[in-house]
Amino acid sequence: GQEEAEGAELPKGLRGVKHMIAVASCKGGVGKSTTCVNLAYTLSQMGAKVGIFDADVYGPSLPIMVSPDYGKSKLVMDPETKEIAPVEYENVKLVSFGFTTEGSAIMRGPMAGGLVNQLLTTTNWGDLDYLLIDMPPGTGDIHLTIGQAVPIACAVVVTTPHKLAYADVAKGIRMFARLDVPCVSVVENMSYFDGDDGKRYFPFGKGSGEQIQGEFAIPHLVRMPIKEEVSSGSDEGVPCVVSDPLSDVAGSMQELGASV
Ligand code: ADP
Repeated sequence: GQEEAEGAELPKGLRGVKHMIAVASCKGGVGKSTTCVNLAYTLSQMGAKVGIFDADVYGPSLPIMVSPDYGKSKLVMDPETKEIAPVEYENVKLVSFGFTTEGSAIMRGPMAGGLVNQLLTTTNWGDLDYLLIDMPPGTGDIHLTIGQAVPIACAVVVTTPHKLAYADVAKGIRMFARLDVPCVSVVENMSYFDGDDGKRYFPFGKGSGEQIQGEFAIPHLVRMPIKEEVSSGSDEGVPCVVSDPLSDVAGSMQELGASV
């Protein structure tokens, strides 16, 4: 996969991108998009030029999580070059099907893969240090299409401490291995919360992140706490690391940023 992509010439709009990083999860609802968005803004705060590509054509969440002008932002295509100009918020470039006039769609897998590929490769990303690709949940056509079309430098896999998550995560890591993409970090999201009583609680259990890290020899494990500000930030369209760059969530994201 990767060799093929590196051998072929990259589309013009992606030639200024230094590193493409996949953010993936195997189940929905574990906090993949939340992690992707907050990691992007953290890398930007650390001084990098960053873009986010929301590859979820069925359920794009980027326009909700980062909504610069309450859903009015749309991608614009240059009529001459046919290149797409990203939406931009706080110096991060954003592309999602949710920013197109068609919005999300109902279609079969192979068609979705083609469409995702088209949006990724016809965008004029300019010069970027990192392009984070928010993968759809699971391991399907879209992952393979993207993995074959562009050289992905590494993957970050997001999971929760639930024992049930283990089998799915393993599947995801193996998929990236087949695409020759190394998984550099596991994010154990919703890892714990700190109560008002000063105690730390582990409502979903402990140790599954470590188990995955050990079994697949993943270099980094980053724990992210359960925090109200994480979900309210997403709901209000301002990532929590933007509104509170000193929180412990921001700390987790800086750790993750250093690992990619
Ligand atoms: P996925 O992309 O895996 O489907 P999302 O990133 O959309 O998951 O997250 C699912 C929901 O959980 C969202 O409402 C999000 O705000 C919330 N959420 C994710 N991580 C946390 C966290 N650490 N603390 C509190 N809420 C969270």
